[in-house]
Amino acid sequence: MTHVLHRQLRHDYPAATLGRGVAIRDAAGKEYIDASGGAAVSCLGHSDPDVLAALHAQIDQLDYAHTGFFTTSAAEELADEMIRHAPAGIGHVYFTSGGSEGIEAALKLARQYFVERGEPQRCHFIGRLQGYHGNTLGALSVGGNLWRRRAFEPILLGNVHHVSPCYEYRGRWSDETPDAYGERLAQELSDKIDELGGANVIAFIAETVVGATLGAVPPVPPYFRRVREICDRHGILLILDEVMCGMGRTGTLHACEQEGVTPDLMVVAKGLGGGYAPIGAVMVSENIVQAMADGSGFFQHGHTYMGHPLACAAALAVQRVIRRDNLLAKVREQGSHLSRRLQERFGNHPFVGDVRGRGLFQAIELVADRGTRAPFDPALKLHARIKQVAMDRGLMVYPMGGTVDGARGDHVLLAPPFIIDRATVDTIVERLGDAVDAAIAASRK
Ligand code: PLP
Repeated sequence: MTHVLHRQLRHDYPAATLGRGVAIRDAAGKEYIDASGGAAVSCLGHSDPDVLAALHAQIDQLDYAHTGFFTTSAAEELADEMIRHAPAGIGHVYFTSGGSEGIEAALKLARQYFVERGEPQRCHFIGRLQGYHGNTLGALSVGGNLWRRRAFEPILLGNVHHVSPCYEYRGRWSDETPDAYGERLAQELSDKIDELGGANVIAFIAETVVGATLGAVPPVPPYFRRVREICDRHGILLILDEVMCGMGRTGTLHACEQEGVTPDLMVVAKGLGGGYAPIGAVMVSENIVQAMADGSGFFQHGHTYMGHPLACAAALAVQRVIRRDNLLAKVREQGSHLSRRLQERFGNHPFVGDVRGRGLFQAIELVADRGTRAPFDPALKLHARIKQVAMDRGLMVYPMGGTVDGARGDHVLLAPPFIIDRATVDTIVERLGDAVDAAIAASRK
């Protein structure tokens, strides 16, 4: 009998005992290919020797120093490294212990920026339906996944509004070009801002490439450029959530590089530390920092473990390995291979409606009927079945339900480590194909 309050109370979790490269082994000796990097976390796989050495070196030197008293070389060097490769205008990094904490900090930074500037009437945030930004109350409030919100709705922030996601497979009309679709969504945002009054809105927040809730959904090309223009017109901040899609996952260090936009605030996390330590960060544009420097002189926030030396040392080592080994080129190369193999296996599959993604961030969306795009009955919990059948076959993938509207729909997300090779990509697609077929067959009995 466990005393751990696990995520699922009626599920027996295997105990992970060893991580090596792209695989995790359990206590029974069974090996699993980590084709999802956990939840798009393990970008270097498990047990990278340089990251382990950096962690050992840091713990021998300094375990912890509270950021209210000290800075550390680990935090300073990591921030230098991140800013060296940051989008234009981003000049500072605020460290947190994960993605949700990063989103909370970004929301508060955005609010405080306007308080410092003498615009305290700005109090609204606009997010997107089906977006996911974390499970803390602020992050859950700006998120738009109905299932995740439902139980907590009465205690979520009231000053948050949602517009449609950029979800081409289901959102774009058949007679509409991608450009026109992007324009239509931009107009929806613009109308929402007008409804609230442009001078009353703090920020628009969105995942650059939507991860967990939609399954690796990239935007159509003009979308974010138009969003940026609209925000600028009203002096509204653009917060990009790259917790899952950032730090190289889509083939560029930041997913927004492929959109040609620069956010005012950007939150990164999972791939930053690659799972070697819990860490997230808010990347902050200089004008926001300057407003605080010219005003109160401090950011009214903070957490005990922010900028933890071990977490910063791990993340610095992870980022250096990615750069030294030119792993973003590998993400693009193996990402193309993965996308090709998924298309071959699932492109004509009777129950797969869409294969999508960028780099090593790919997904398939399951449908009961390809013609009508009707999802499977949610009561079947097909996503959960696929996860279990894949685990039985030694494969970790990241399936989720509620793809269509927070209740209906299923997809499977893949986010393997950047060190993956072609042969393992092939094995992943083969095992996933078997798992999908077996789970669907079992659900139809
Ligand atoms: N934002 C996005 C896009 C995420 O995918 C997640 C987690 O999956 C979060 C925020 C929350 O991050 P964390 O679970 O580290 O709090």
